[in-house]
Amino acid sequence: MRAFLGGKTQQLVSRVLFHPGRPSAAVRWRAAQVRLLCSSSSDDEKHRPSMLRHLTSKIKATGPITVAEYMREVLTNPVTGYYVKNDMLGPDGDFITSPEISQIFGELLGVWIISEWMGAGGPKQLQLVELGPGKGSLAADILRVFNQLKSVLGVASVSLHLVEVSPALSRIQAQNLTGTQNQEADSEDEPVYRRGETSTGLDVSWYRRLDDVPAGFSIFLAHEFFDALPVHKFQRTDKGWREVLVDIDPEKPDQLRFVVAPSPTLASSTFVQADEKRHHVEVCPEGGAIVQQLARRITEDGGAALIADYGHDGTKTDTFRGFKDHQLHHVLASPGSADLTADVDFSYLRRVAGGDVACVGPVTQRLFLKNMGIDTRLQVLLRSCSDPSTRQQLISSYDMLTNPSKMGERFHFFSLLHPSRIAKPKTSAGLKLEKKKSPAPLPVAGFAELSFS
Ligand code: SAH
Repeated sequence: MRAFLGGKTQQLVSRVLFHPGRPSAAVRWRAAQVRLLCSSSSDDEKHRPSMLRHLTSKIKATGPITVAEYMREVLTNPVTGYYVKNDMLGPDGDFITSPEISQIFGELLGVWIISEWMGAGGPKQLQLVELGPGKGSLAADILRVFNQLKSVLGVASVSLHLVEVSPALSRIQAQNLTGTQNQEADSEDEPVYRRGETSTGLDVSWYRRLDDVPAGFSIFLAHEFFDALPVHKFQRTDKGWREVLVDIDPEKPDQLRFVVAPSPTLASSTFVQADEKRHHVEVCPEGGAIVQQLARRITEDGGAALIADYGHDGTKTDTFRGFKDHQLHHVLASPGSADLTADVDFSYLRRVAGGDVACVGPVTQRLFLKNMGIDTRLQVLLRSCSDPSTRQQLISSYDMLTNPSKMGERFHFFSLLHPSRIAKPKTSAGLKLEKKKSPAPLPVAGFAELSFS
């Protein structure tokens, strides 16, 4: 679909896309592949047995654990969790993500945010809330666009709110976004565990949970966040649906294995849909609860959420996997040394979001970025760049983000919007003489193609 955006939105898109920028800075990625780049340091090796020990003593004490509990412990255990103790992102880490590949990604999302803020009538307050901000690169690229479009944002009070479970990553985010202008809270019980200020004077706050982010008009971003949340796994058997659990291998006590629960669990009776056709399903209730909270906040306070991740629309079965040493890694081997992830089921998120909020997507990353004008942005950067190696890197990072066999079709964009944002203009049935029409809502950028004419 080709959509003509409002005049103001077109102008702001053009101002960002046609800004010459610094092409060399547009490329962060050097030579990587998606979710590859895993090099476990000797330090990781040292920590590995403690996670296994922790899990085996838990299983010995209370019996086999759910896959969701396994995933939660391995990734976010406050002492030995993979996310809590590692910096796993980027060329020297375990995997690479779109914002780390090219700053164009963040620039286009910055335009999306301002376009949605304008679509809501340009409220006086704009909270940008990012869930799982990694190194803070996406937020940094977005804030640069905000700065470029200062005159558009006018007197709106803009603030940045980061929901991050990892103290190690929060320190990296703070360094990237505020330099030394940040401080940890005095007590561990504070909902805001770190505060800072960017060089342009924007307040930044860090929270462990979304619940703690203050109410108000907000644009929420979640890039590769939902795939890190724990999933329950269920298997269809002759006796009905059974939950898949993690147990100690009786023949190798220092190894874990999957088992199928002999009888229904609370989760298997609650989470599998009555009309489910697949033989195996993964359900992420924590993701569902977060989407419900986003939906409630958007309906009550206005705003939008943009969720970008690996995903499917309720069709895939077993997607739980680990990544280590540039390879797929068995999810139960040396827990804590590798990233664990499961594809996001967008049909589940749509269902739990409820009817009060509007859902758009999922659309592929390729389509979303093309709709946002990535081709134009690439051409502008190439025009202002003569260095052959930087030109080559610009082209390869564009290819990585958009090529269907790379990230272009593996990643999807999905959005929750206030219902007024996409409501059809009201027609008054019965009043034949009614001439006045309310204006049609602006199309949602990224989900409809932009036009510059
Ligand atoms: N969005 C970033 C990072 C993705 S990795 C990017 O695309 O580059 C996942 C991020 O989510 C990390 O920052 C991790 O620490 C954070 N995270 C994982 N589980 C979390 C949870 N339950 N609550 C808050 N943050 C979480």
